Amino acid sequence: MFETEINTSVAKAAAWLHKGEVVGIPTETVYGLAGNALNEDAVLKIFKAKNRPHFDPLIVHVHSIAAIEKYAAHIPPKAKLLLQKFSPGPLTVLLPKRECIPYLVTSGLDTVAIRVPNHPLTLQLLQEIDFPLAAPSANPFGYISPTSSYHVYDQLHGRIPYILDGGVTDVGVESTIVGFVDDEVVVNRLGGLAVEEIEKVVGKVRVETQQSANPKAPGMLQHHYAPKKKMFLLESAGKATDLEAGYILYNEHLPYISHQNQILLSPAGNLSEAAKNLFAAMRQLDKSDVSAIYAIRFPEMGLGRAINDRLYRASVNE
Ligand code: AMP
Ligand code: MG
Repeated sequence: MFETEINTSVAKAAAWLHKGEVVGIPTETVYGLAGNALNEDAVLKIFKAKNRPHFDPLIVHVHSIAAIEKYAAHIPPKAKLLLQKFSPGPLTVLLPKRECIPYLVTSGLDTVAIRVPNHPLTLQLLQEIDFPLAAPSANPFGYISPTSSYHVYDQLHGRIPYILDGGVTDVGVESTIVGFVDDEVVVNRLGGLAVEEIEKVVGKVRVETQQSANPKAPGMLQHHYAPKKKMFLLESAGKATDLEAGYILYNEHLPYISHQNQILLSPAGNLSEAAKNLFAAMRQLDKSDVSAIYAIRFPEMGLGRAINDRLYRASVNE
């Protein structure tokens, strides 16, 4: 057990990491639970603190594209183009790993998921330490990802010594994961970087995210990012008839449901703002006394696609 400290000191975070402990770190997507990616004992502590099964691989965080070259054996030209355009940022690339990355991090795969997070404190931290950070989202396995240091504290206090406080995350959903098969670009997880943005750089991509049965990408498990309350994803507002439930909506209230039970993710109608507010809204309704949580499908464009993906996975899909 630890007395968990929340603080903005990067030096303190570095000191815990040097000792082989794991700490909460801010990124622009969601908070991560970070440990030395080259130290198997530290990596084991990540899995343990989260209750995460070992078959679910971790993303490795580094401070620059140059650092990616230290841990990836090869960077295909299209990966390089994307990294140059979007790093630091919510882009994770799947690349053949070098030997120094333990198989524990990649769940036995020969590829490593790697990215440069865009948060000033975490970039500073990565500069100060001389190892990369393995960091999945800082939440118990299967639950909603944390978008503030308080969310991390709420669920992991006592299990970790330290949370580096970087405020509320900017993007609010996890990174977009992109793989490279022969010459093709494949999006394995929809996330904070919109598919349209990727296609502007490398042309048409394949989106392949419904792989629930595929143990190679368990982040794609269908039931994930879920609140404790039952959650349902509705195709249209007309189906929202449960007066006791809480609602997650884009920019318009439902006229016949108490406003108190509705959260508009972006009254101005901005999908990036909606993504930023999504997980906090799910947590808020999960803690409130509504009977269940409903969401209505968002426009299937830009970050709306990642929002719909998270809502779908959080919902009961019989
Ligand atoms: P999280 O850090 O919790 O957002 O989850 C990381 C996710 O990245 C995993 O659940 C996988 O879906 C994906 N991932 C990590 N490493 C690999 C890899 N080597 N190959 C394919 N997917 C990966
Ligand atoms: Mg996660």
